[in-house]
Amino acid sequence: MSDPILIDTASFTARRETRSGDIPLAELDGRISAHELLADNSGTVHYRISGGTDRWQRPFLDVAVTADLQLVCQHCLQPLAYAVDDNARLVLFRDEAALDAALAEDEEADGMVYAAEIDALPLLEDQLLMVLPFAPRHADCDNPRLAEINQDQPNPFAQLAGLKAQG
Ligand SMILES: [Zn+2]
Repeated sequence: MSDPILIDTASFTARRETRSGDIPLAELDGRISAHELLADNSGTVHYRISGGTDRWQRPFLDVAVTADLQLVCQHCLQPLAYAVDDNARLVLFRDEAALDAALAEDEEADGMVYAAEIDALPLLEDQLLMVLPFAPRHADCDNPRLAEINQDQPNPFAQLAGLKAQG
């Protein structure tokens, strides 16, 4: 297991501090390190956490994760390279009621209840879990460099890869 990434919330957000580092995939929580979609867990996850205060004077954490993952193609069961590059803003609310109200008002919003000290490690893990594709597969399993990610929205990187291959 990886060490916690402890953040002193008040000073971290007031001073707009940043923490970054790399964590071996294998040291993350089993929800990720032993995820059924992973072909192997030998890679690393890079993270960058930045604190700040938004225009409503609410403290927030910006959480960025990048990783080059090897997933299992759900069609041919061979490895498939998948790049994660995701940013999320977590607004810190004073209590559960304020959090619920904000989420009800704005579906895009994301947040959590304020705590004097926050372990950012589970936040990274949750974020990685959320961005893992539901059913990754090669666009052409005989030509496994092409990835087709089966999500609700088209993946711009997969589309770009397809265009490049045709050109
Ligand atoms: Zn395949």
